[in-house]
Amino acid sequence: MSVRVRIAPSPTGNLHIGTARTAVFNWLFARHLGGQFIIRIEDTDLERSRPEYTDNILEGLTWLGLTWDEGPFYQSQRLDLYKQAVQTLLDRGLAYRCYCTTEELDDMRAKQKAAGLAPRYDNRHRNLTAEEQAAFEAQGRKPVIRFKIDDDRTIVWKDLVRGTVSWKAGDLGGDMVVARAAEAGGVGQPLYNLAVVVDDMDMAITHVIRGEDHIANTAKQILLYEALGGQVPEFAHTPLILNQEGRKLSKRDGVTSISEFRQMGYIAPALANYMTLLGWTAPDATQELFTLSEAAKTFSFDRVNQAGAKFDWDKLNWINSQYLHHLPVEPLTDLILPLWKEAGYDVDSKERSWLEQLVALIGPSLTRLPEAVELGKMFFTSETSFSEEAREQLQKEGVKEILESLLTAVEGATVTEDSLKDAIKTVTKEKKVKKGLVMRSLRAALTGEVHGPDLIQSWLLWNQNGQDGDRIKEALKTL
Ligand code: GLU
Repeated sequence: MSVRVRIAPSPTGNLHIGTARTAVFNWLFARHLGGQFIIRIEDTDLERSRPEYTDNILEGLTWLGLTWDEGPFYQSQRLDLYKQAVQTLLDRGLAYRCYCTTEELDDMRAKQKAAGLAPRYDNRHRNLTAEEQAAFEAQGRKPVIRFKIDDDRTIVWKDLVRGTVSWKAGDLGGDMVVARAAEAGGVGQPLYNLAVVVDDMDMAITHVIRGEDHIANTAKQILLYEALGGQVPEFAHTPLILNQEGRKLSKRDGVTSISEFRQMGYIAPALANYMTLLGWTAPDATQELFTLSEAAKTFSFDRVNQAGAKFDWDKLNWINSQYLHHLPVEPLTDLILPLWKEAGYDVDSKERSWLEQLVALIGPSLTRLPEAVELGKMFFTSETSFSEEAREQLQKEGVKEILESLLTAVEGATVTEDSLKDAIKTVTKEKKVKKGLVMRSLRAALTGEVHGPDLIQSWLLWNQNGQDGDRIKEALKTL
């Protein structure tokens, strides 16, 4: 039997990290077993679903490299199928019309609450006579359709992550609504649990892999599979992603959507790698850096934790920096150029080779892409802004003479890495000073800072722009 899994996001918001991580696990499982990964957009909630969220979700999955084999399928285009299934349940006597008003339901819950009971529908319309139904209809009440739940059942399944799970049907809240209110005799808008089961049956889904917050839905859905004569798939409930306080990561925690992570300068393979670690451990537990395809080779649910996975920014930053540091200079330049352009830097007048040299220079300092804006700034501006420490360095005895000598060495000369190194050596000897003093002074003069990227490489970049002498002169002016 070929494995078929799906990710079924509701387009009621941008692609959330939790959904994306579930997509990662589905993808890894499918790829590990040579199965199919399917996308289904669950857009039946017409009020909250928006096409721009669908676009964001599909874009995010594509960006992460989670290629799919079928879909996207849209539930909004499959309503007839769900309505037919509701009709089948009605025809089989497994569902019925419930005419309770909102007030009646509120009143029922208030009484249960007062009696210290959990709120539930008390199945009061399960056995209405034809006359009773007609009387409600005459009052203009519009019925919902409820699926009968046998309170005495215990629903048991073998979860791929959690082992045997059993759920008392009596805790499911009474007969459940499967379709919203409609005119008498009709079938209204079908609801989530029903639509999911109809689709998972129709799409021959073999494994339902989703967040642990769906466990109660799984119990309900198993009953629906049975009622509709479907093959119950296997289930894997993945751990939730938790914030620092150990609560489910939510919008209140700030960044949660994949597009926000992208904007912050996390790159796709790094984020996908990090998400894989949110709940899964590689067979070699020390291995933390891998591509999705590498992880797929060894992925199994045996190594997925039951406990929630704490979101760890330090780890994500570390992984992102590892990817950035190992990225070849060409693709890294392609990622950085738009940010420099956006910052207003004159990128277009520069040679590609100069830009790549600059990227090679600052790349090893990057944790997130936007840091390239600050790190690259001094190479795109003609003025130097001197930090307090740099000023102090420049004030030191002998510094003026050192800079003047260096200026003489480079002015009008063809400069190479070796000639710059030679110039530094010569000045050190002539002035009988330590090399450190020369380097620190030169750095302060050129960059306005006392720390920073490789100095010779930085100097070469300015030299190619014809700016190195100007920068040294500018520093001399401050003395
Ligand atoms: N639309 C549901 C969600 O976004 C799908 C749950 C499922 O995978 O069945 O949570």
